[in-house]
Amino acid sequence: MSYMKEKNIHTPEKFIIAIDGPSGAGKSTLSRLLAERLSYTNINTGAMFRTVALAIDRAGLSLDDNEAIEKLCHQLHIHFKNDGGQETVWLGDEDVSELIRGSEMSMLTSQISALPVVRKSLLDLQREMAEHGGVVLEGRDIGSVVFPDAQVKFFLCASDEARGLRRHEELLSNGFDSDLEQTIAEVRQRDDADSSREHAPLVRAEDAITIDSTNMNIEQVLEKMISVVEHRHDELFMGKASGE
Ligand code: C5P
Repeated sequence: MSYMKEKNIHTPEKFIIAIDGPSGAGKSTLSRLLAERLSYTNINTGAMFRTVALAIDRAGLSLDDNEAIEKLCHQLHIHFKNDGGQETVWLGDEDVSELIRGSEMSMLTSQISALPVVRKSLLDLQREMAEHGGVVLEGRDIGSVVFPDAQVKFFLCASDEARGLRRHEELLSNGFDSDLEQTIAEVRQRDDADSSREHAPLVRAEDAITIDSTNMNIEQVLEKMISVVEHRHDELFMGKASGE
């Protein structure tokens, strides 16, 4: 809403907003739209993990070779570009936005994201990218590990079937083949792996606001999120004012 945009322009408050949740819950779309509405920067951390998976795959590294993976992670230059609303992710000077989206890359990403060396290197990068606030980050462990002090935390979920269907439609619209049943099974498999891994598993942060998007459309979820952010903004702002 223009209210929040106005506010954001006129106030020094620059929140860190975390959106965590399982695959296909709508995080990427909502994170992008929320960031747009607030004039914030959107950081899709899943795309960062996917880009690392692509680089590991291309280098032909074994997932047991910690040393080589750590070295590779240090050499990678991952960044985002926003060209007139079109967001892309880059590995060095190559736009990898489409290459990282297929099902095979999703499954490989889930595997490499369990490796502590990968998590550590992306943890530092995510914190660096968001250090000045005014960001929406979407992922699995943003509110629990990366930014436990984020001013607003959302946990976005939906039924397995709804998430599988969304992922299926996304794959088709990006020109990939997809079978609905198989996609639902893969989404489940990835969530199980993401939730049960030892390091930074997918969890709902205690103070996160849960939104179940199964029966909500994008606009409804976005409005809900905006109202939570506005409320939090007023809460903190009022808190400051009354303490003066
Ligand atoms: O969000 P997206 O489906 O693109 O993420 C791909 C994979 O990256 C996830 O299944 C998960 O294994 C990993 N990931 C993660 N932590 C994040 C973001 C993504 O482990 N913050």
